[in-house]
Amino acid sequence: MKESNYSEFDRRHLWHPYTSTHNPLPTYKVDHAKGCLITLADGTELIDGMSSWWCVIHGYNHPVLNEAVKEQISRMSHVMFGGFTHDPAIELGKLLLSILPPSMEHLFYADSGSVATEVAMKMAVQAQNDRRRTNFATIRSGYHGDTWNAMSVCDPVTGMHGVFGGELPVRYFAPSPECKFGEEWRPETFEPMRKLLREKASELAGVILEPVVQGAGGMRFYNPQYLRELRKECDELGILLIFDEIATGFGRTGKLFAWEHAGVEPDIMCIGKSLTGGYMTLSAVATNHRVADMISSGDAGVMMHGPTFMANPLACAVGLASTRLLLSQDWQGKVRHLEQKLRELLEPARSLKCVREVRVLGGIGVIELVPEVELGPFQKLCVEKGVWIRPFGHNAYIMPPYMAVTDEQVEKLADALISIIKELYEHD
Ligand SMILES: *Cc1c(COP(=O)(O)O)cnc(C)c1O
Repeated sequence: MKESNYSEFDRRHLWHPYTSTHNPLPTYKVDHAKGCLITLADGTELIDGMSSWWCVIHGYNHPVLNEAVKEQISRMSHVMFGGFTHDPAIELGKLLLSILPPSMEHLFYADSGSVATEVAMKMAVQAQNDRRRTNFATIRSGYHGDTWNAMSVCDPVTGMHGVFGGELPVRYFAPSPECKFGEEWRPETFEPMRKLLREKASELAGVILEPVVQGAGGMRFYNPQYLRELRKECDELGILLIFDEIATGFGRTGKLFAWEHAGVEPDIMCIGKSLTGGYMTLSAVATNHRVADMISSGDAGVMMHGPTFMANPLACAVGLASTRLLLSQDWQGKVRHLEQKLRELLEPARSLKCVREVRVLGGIGVIELVPEVELGPFQKLCVEKGVWIRPFGHNAYIMPPYMAVTDEQVEKLADALISIIKELYEHD
């Protein structure tokens, strides 16, 4: 007997991301998932176009990752990291430091992307302790998570400043980098940031931003030269540079990490999301010797953070398995191939009147619409067409699990996306 996809209990009692209890957006009950297919309770199969928000890079229910979890669970699921250590944390740490920017020497494991942002910001403030520099600069259209400090550096409009405004720390915002990825560099587009940093340097502990690809705050791809200019300016002014690679890490943009597009290293770097292939929540903050030293010789003398589930062994074990699995395959070839497919398949959307821009980078294909997308009707059509796509604001995008998706699945995703856009927004 097939079950219904609808749960009255869920609708009445469970909060979903950014929803109201009065008129919650519809939810669909998932029974199981395998590879790039998500199967609903009533048996409907959906091709996954979201990688469950960037993280499921190998597809769902992967035998290698399943095995890693089972292996680890039979030893221990968790043990405190205060005073203890364990092989999953050590082996994952060795592997990560071998693929992160060469200057990264110290790792702090945290439990989610938002917490990684908090930790990175705390690191910067502690490192600047002797100079009492405590504030941050960032760029518009960014997204760094939902906790208090993370919110303060999210885009003030698409982020949540309106609701929490007066209580949020006030950060300095430069415009989102205007020069796009692939365009010829226009030096004047860096000037607003240069001016901001020079004016506020004495207050600034750091600059935090997503390198090259801005995710949830606008799905924008910008010219890597911006980061080279920023690195130079930060060095001159003694401001620490923080790269949030929580969305861009582990191959999504065509490089293993997005900083490689620019070839300049941050002082502090956050990773998360696809770190465990989407199996468990885990994030990490990496930093160089200099910052670690500044923190350790500051007033506190220690890094002031220590989550209960720090370096959770299950999460570290599956993170290790996922990262090894990625590196053992031709991930770059797969992402490049997906990029090519997305370029071809989304091209026809350019001629639609309701489309403002089509852009593709690595395993991310974005259609920016003139109108703002209404999620309910959009997702209903997705489910009818057998795909899972979740637009945000003006952007409808597909970013399937690049290590698992087939050409046929990418074609179905792109066809469905374009036909839904036509059905909902292309009227004369
Ligand atoms: C998702 C995301 C975060 C927040 O991660 P959570 O695990 O949801 O807390 C932070 N920064 C970026 C760039 C992200 O994409």
